[in-house]
This record gives sequence, C-alpha cells and structure tokens, in this order.
Amino acid sequence: MVIGSFLNVVIHRVPRGESVVRPASRCPGCSTSIRRRDNVPVLSWLLLRGRCRDCRTPIPWRYPLVELATGVVFALIAARVGVSWALPAYLYFGAVAVALTVIDLDVQRLPDAIVGPSYLVGVGLLGVASAGSGNWAAFVRAGIGGLALFGLYALVVVVYPKGMGLGDVKLAGVLGMYLGWWGWDALAVGAFAAFLFGGLVGAVVMAVIGKGRGTRIPFGPWMLLGAASALFISSPVADWYLSMTGIASV
Ligand SMILES: [Zn+2]
Repeated sequence: MVIGSFLNVVIHRVPRGESVVRPASRCPGCSTSIRRRDNVPVLSWLLLRGRCRDCRTPIPWRYPLVELATGVVFALIAARVGVSWALPAYLYFGAVAVALTVIDLDVQRLPDAIVGPSYLVGVGLLGVASAGSGNWAAFVRAGIGGLALFGLYALVVVVYPKGMGLGDVKLAGVLGMYLGWWGWDALAVGAFAAFLFGGLVGAVVMAVIGKGRGTRIPFGPWMLLGAASALFISSPVADWYLSMTGIASV
C-alpha cells in the first residue's frame, strides 16, 4: 500500500510531465505540505474522513482505492509467484499495471516515461530471475515473447489504425516479455485475453452509446488485465489439458 501511495504521485504527475520525486506532496486547496502522519496509506484517509486536515478540501476516494488495490495486487502476485527470484520482477509488473490502468482511463495515454524504462527494468529483473533460478530458457522465451507481441500489435495498428495507438504497441512488448518468461501458454492466453476483454467491453459500449461519435475506449487496461489473467490461469489450464489428455491416453 506504501507503493500504491507512490503510484498515486506517478498517476497524477507523469501525464503532466512533472517530477515524481520533487516537490513533496501538497494539498491542492491550501498548499500545505502533507504531514508524515497524514500520509499513511488508506488509514490516514479514513481518519481524516477524506478531507484535508487544514482546509477541509475533499481528498478523492481514488487515492485510498489505488493504495488498497496495489496492496491486493501485490498480495495476489506474491501468492502466485511465491518467494522466489522471479517475485521482484512480477511485483514491478503489478505496480506498472496499476499506474498505467488508471492513467489510461484518465487521459487515454500510456506515457513513454513509464513504458520505456519498463523494458530496461523488465530485462534486468527477469534476468535476475533467470540467473537466480538457472532457468535461462525462460529468459530466451521472454525475448521471443516481447518481440512476438510487439510485432502482433504493430501489425494490428497497420491493418486497423483506429483500433489502438502506438502506446499500446509499445506496452505489448513489455507484456510479451513477462508472459513469455512465465511460459508459452501464458503468452498465448495473454495475447488472446486482451482482445477478448477489450472486444467484449467495446461491443457493450457501442451498443449502449452508439457507434461513431469518436468514442475512444482505452485498450491498455484490457491488455494489462489479459496479461494478469494469463499469469493466474495459464498453468492450471495447461495442467488440466495435460491431465485430460493423460487420462484419455490411459
Ligand atoms: Zn488543504
């Protein structure tokens, strides 16, 4: 949740091109610096009843929600990945997923300032995961996965430019690395799930609001949700399939 508190700063400042380090957080109402004791994730917001201590300006409920969501995402990832060399890599992925989801819903952009460095951090942390576990096959898969998903999305943009933006293509490379490291099945499921989720939501929005009128549905959150789902369901699906075929052959 402390990371989530920092992600709130990222979500607010990165789309504006501001530094995430300085200056310290201030109340937009009275410009008073946020006291340390009022900066405890979720708890401070509840104790202050969602208002600034000095001027009573309301603090949006989205702030504690992002903190809580980050805590839940980190707990789920830790439960799934386990205490292993791969955990730092996937926790980083979780943090980026939370920040990019909110930013894309906010401003319909996936800032290069987050996606760009994620290639370097991803290669570094997945490299650590492979070095620690000795699983270099996974690292090779990550490279192939990144190239494959980047290529797939680039192709979609060329064929159907209205469907998504270049930001989505750049994010696809990062997701491909993480899905590829996890396994071929995760890569396949993750690539498919993004289009399934995005397509379903797009169809519902079109039906409710109507076609055209420049309705732009951000695709980034569905890519991230698809990738996350793949990490959680892919192996069981593959295990189930193998067990079924195993039973069938007996
Ligand atoms: Zn204030």
